[in-house]
Amino acid sequence: MKLPFLLIAGLALGVASALHAEESAKEIECVKTSTFLAPPDSPDHRQYVPDRAINVLNLAIDVTPDFTKRTVTAKTTIKFKPIAMPLPELALDAVDLRVTSVQSSATMLEYQVTDTKIMVTFAQPIPADKEAWVAVEYHAEPAKGLYFRTPEMGYRPGDTHLFTQGEPIEARHWYPCPDAPNQKFTSEITCRVPEGMTVISNGRKGSETTDAATGLVTVTWRQEKPHANYLISLCAGYFEKLEDRYRDIPLAFYTPPSDINEAMNSFRDTKDMMAFFEEEIGVPYPWPKYDQVVVNDFVAGGMENTSATTLTDHTLFTDATENLRSSQGLVAHELAHQWFGDLVTCKDWSSLWLNEGFATYYAHLYDGHKHGRDFLLYGLYNSARGIVNRTDARPIVERKYDQPGEMFSYLAYQKGGWVLHMLRSQLGEDLYRRCIKTWLERHAYGSVVTEDLNRVIEELSGRSYDQFFDQWVYHGGVPDLEATYAWDARTKLARVSLKQNQRLGEGVLLFNFPLTVRFKTKSATVDHAITVKQKSEDFYFALAEAPIIVRIDPEYTLLARVKFDPPAAMLDAQLADQADVIGRLLAVEALGRKRDKDTVVKLKRTLNNDPFHGVRVEAAKALRTIHSDEALDALLASTKQPDARVRRQVFDAIGGFYHEKASAGKTAGLKEEKNPDIQAAIIEELGGYPHAEVREILRQSLNSTSYRNAVADAAVRALRRAHDPTWIEPLMHNLRSRQADYTSRGFASALDTLAVLARDEAGQREEVREFVVVYVNDPRRPVRVGALNALGTLEDQRAVAVLQKFSLALAGSPEHRAATNALHRIANAKRPLEGLGNLQTQVLDLQKENHELRQSFKTLEQKLDALTPTLAPPRKSTPALTSPRGRAR
Ligand SMILES: [Zn+2]
Repeated sequence: MKLPFLLIAGLALGVASALHAEESAKEIECVKTSTFLAPPDSPDHRQYVPDRAINVLNLAIDVTPDFTKRTVTAKTTIKFKPIAMPLPELALDAVDLRVTSVQSSATMLEYQVTDTKIMVTFAQPIPADKEAWVAVEYHAEPAKGLYFRTPEMGYRPGDTHLFTQGEPIEARHWYPCPDAPNQKFTSEITCRVPEGMTVISNGRKGSETTDAATGLVTVTWRQEKPHANYLISLCAGYFEKLEDRYRDIPLAFYTPPSDINEAMNSFRDTKDMMAFFEEEIGVPYPWPKYDQVVVNDFVAGGMENTSATTLTDHTLFTDATENLRSSQGLVAHELAHQWFGDLVTCKDWSSLWLNEGFATYYAHLYDGHKHGRDFLLYGLYNSARGIVNRTDARPIVERKYDQPGEMFSYLAYQKGGWVLHMLRSQLGEDLYRRCIKTWLERHAYGSVVTEDLNRVIEELSGRSYDQFFDQWVYHGGVPDLEATYAWDARTKLARVSLKQNQRLGEGVLLFNFPLTVRFKTKSATVDHAITVKQKSEDFYFALAEAPIIVRIDPEYTLLARVKFDPPAAMLDAQLADQADVIGRLLAVEALGRKRDKDTVVKLKRTLNNDPFHGVRVEAAKALRTIHSDEALDALLASTKQPDARVRRQVFDAIGGFYHEKASAGKTAGLKEEKNPDIQAAIIEELGGYPHAEVREILRQSLNSTSYRNAVADAAVRALRRAHDPTWIEPLMHNLRSRQADYTSRGFASALDTLAVLARDEAGQREEVREFVVVYVNDPRRPVRVGALNALGTLEDQRAVAVLQKFSLALAGSPEHRAATNALHRIANAKRPLEGLGNLQTQVLDLQKENHELRQSFKTLEQKLDALTPTLAPPRKSTPALTSPRGRAR
């Protein structure tokens, strides 16, 4: 799939986390088919692929976009043959298409258009295997599936374009189709655009002609090999491009014209990746060309449309960020999909890992090819850390979901990638490659399930992999491994005890896996292979001498949470072992749990001297975790790092301390720093300091100019941390006067910051609400959604009326979700409505008090009566004794 932002952030070597906010922008609609055996809220609810009544042979779309009205006029023709049975009626997925005509090669009785389908009823059922066609003419103003980017929407005038997004089931919003991944067909797109625009689509470019009558340029693209419906793509508009060639395959990289200067940074590695993947996979690149198209505010990170990948503009970067940013992970991921996902495709969304796990893992493999094995292992290490501490026990292959979008999670991506790494480690590289090549060749242009992969592996390896897939793919969880080590000097036996502590149950099995235990002595390295399959097991190893290092899984072949605390001397030896990057990373992790001065010295040494940048980065993080004065001093003395990745981490770690020295160190660092991403990291963390000097830095940064406004964005995040209402006016002024400098997402997050600052400021909340509310109708979706979120953050009851409109009008959309969440926030905050709300409360309080006083007065009266039966009745107005007014004071 399109890679969610969260995942790209990880792949792009640590691009600022600001990217991930829009993951939720993905909207998916439930596939309502007869394949639901139980209603979605039932525990037995499961999803299965829909029936295929027809074999689609070809799908052709002839579309004319109107960039001003943001609509399309189109005709879609589907050529097909009924499968096995005569076909009385054809049902196509189609949402909100205004159909003007339906024609067919067969005589039609009638056609019906519902909100989600077009149903064509034939006079006579079309016989099985007889070729037929249906053509639908329609207009559409797509709410999803096809997206415009125009000046009216706030995008640069010279950059006008549109793009489509099919996966998982959005295509039906702009053309009628059988919208499921379990069938493949050839496709053709004809698009009519104003002169000067470029049209990019799947496959081979056919004709390009100009229509004398309309002046429009008509461009046709043909996808001559069958592919899945969700991979059909159209990008049209003003683009510039870079070109290259790998063998006879043309490569192109398109961006909106104003972004072309940054294109080469992202395009550069494509050719090398293509060569690497062909070599590694063993199957030639399957399509006639490879285009990558960068579009504005893409709905995800990237989308692997067949031979025509779409990428987010957030992947672009300048040289000034040194090695902090890279498109390599994203570009490799989408390119790997051209084999895994496009050539062979998951049969349904429950098998999504066969697309995403492969794309994720092959991007790791490319890391290893380009930067060395340590880099590959560091990628897997970071990926594993995002998996092993999760508590959910969902399996990778899962039929219980409501919407296909739920399957696009860490299970399909990271855990799927790790499953492949374990397979490759167990089979060995050569056998693994043969399996993957055979699997791809056998299922080329078809759809696959996990069993297809299992079958090939069993066939070629002769080994049974049923248990492997059962525990890793069809069941959830990972081994929670606890290891202890002891040395018996008399018998020269090393004992390693292993326990599997994961909670067993229906969802999680006891794991069976091969494991290597490595002993390093002064003179030798000895590996012992064992199989772990019990809940608790002891293993004994005869060694010539006591080891100085004991390593569990030294080659990093097992996805597991491993608890193993070797003695301090062993940890030191492990930290010094230049040949074992994972050993050093684990040693740094273990040291981060100690607090003594000696540990700080070791980590400082590692931070400044380890040969691998990832270990240096982790050492800086460990010092932050230790959080002692010595740790801060060690970080402050280590700011002059030549590698930007380490330097940023050092400043980030210093930001974890609230200390005058930390503030001074960062301010000093900022003066020398040229890298905008590191400047941003420093500025963001300064927000917590109330110094005049910091305030001046924030003011300047807020008004600074930088690529994609990165530095000003950081200042906005700092203001959020500062939580100082005196920033409300300057920020509002900045947003008003410099809106064009902000990215949509940067602007959206600034609106939210504004709401945070004003939330507790009764005097300014109204002004901020009025400012924010203007943007709920902004033409750019990220800004609209950001404004709705900000109204929730503001917790202002007076925003309820606006939010309710969005919560009712656009069910299922990001606006709907944002508005609903905002309403919940406001309801939970229970803030009184200003003015009237407070008055009401006061009145209620007074009424209650008054009532209590009357009660007391009555009681006292009664007591007095009882005590003084012979006295005259007390005078009710006696102020000294019981006046409610008197007590009320
Ligand atoms: Zn993907």
